[in-house]
Amino acid sequence: MKAAMLYGVKDLRIQDVPIPKVGASEVLVRIKAATTCGTDLKIFQRGYVEKIIQLPSVFGHEWAGDVDQVGEGLEWPKKDMRVRAGNSAPCLHCTMCQKGKYNLCEDMIWLWGAYAEYIKVPARMVLVNMQEIPSHVSYEEAAITEPLACVLHGIEEARVRLGDTVVIIGAGPIGLLHLLTAKKIGVEKAIVIDVVEERLNLAEKLGADETINSEKTDVSETVHRLTNNLGADVVIEAIGLPATWELALKLVRKGGTVLEFGGCPPRTEIKVNAEMLHYGEITVLGAFHTTPLHFRKALNLIASRTIDVKPLITKRMPLEEIRDAFKILTTSKNEIKIALSP
Ligand SMILES: [Zn+2]
Ligand SMILES: [Zn+2]
Repeated sequence: MKAAMLYGVKDLRIQDVPIPKVGASEVLVRIKAATTCGTDLKIFQRGYVEKIIQLPSVFGHEWAGDVDQVGEGLEWPKKDMRVRAGNSAPCLHCTMCQKGKYNLCEDMIWLWGAYAEYIKVPARMVLVNMQEIPSHVSYEEAAITEPLACVLHGIEEARVRLGDTVVIIGAGPIGLLHLLTAKKIGVEKAIVIDVVEERLNLAEKLGADETINSEKTDVSETVHRLTNNLGADVVIEAIGLPATWELALKLVRKGGTVLEFGGCPPRTEIKVNAEMLHYGEITVLGAFHTTPLHFRKALNLIASRTIDVKPLITKRMPLEEIRDAFKILTTSKNEIKIALSP
């Protein structure tokens, strides 16, 4: 089968590799659509994240497809069933899992290989993180279950509420998913910050009440003007840079919450004003990945059309052109997610 293998920074190759053999309780899926993700782009551009991918590796983690083979011992799923799964499965046994922090599982398994013709889903993942896709949901929409699940986890941790004013830093795929979710919760005002005008225009189409181009405007000043000089109830950082993590802290109101969502490069440190933390009672949160429960919620929200993820897919390309797809993503101002089909 054709598969995109990642060998190192910016070294992605389409190769012929054997179709994985299915063992007991495993499932082989014929991939119909895979979507590109900021995490993939980050790994492609700046290197691998040791704990979650070892190179060389098949690449990509957002996918949906048809069940091709079902391993011995499984009564579900059935052959040809439309499914999505991955990209993680907690063990349910470790200390973190016992505390209900499934996203911090100490024995998490990760699944790569969305950019291929077939993918083998491990037994544990079939059990805790595979879902049937309702017939009215497209494969590419179903593939977006994973990033939406991460966003749901983050937004729940940050306790975004009806009537809040929320600032979202970054209008990439993750920032826009935060925007869509926050608007559904019923925030009073969603303010989106980015440096790319085209992305801010899309954010406005998707419901942003205010947008700020941080290259053209003083962000702090504008946010304070838009929030009666208070700052926002919740600030969500969806980029993953120390400068924007620190910026987020400057935009929150007293007693408000900062959700540092975008992962920074390893060993990054940021400055936090202790006075603000103490006298201002600011809550600063990190959020990493997501849980099987949120994967389920995410697909249900997509299926019920509560959250419409379709506008995030701005381009479709064949799998063979994946290198061009990544080139486009590193330079384009308009593309948010590219759907690749084998
Ligand atoms: Zn993703
Ligand atoms: Zn665990």
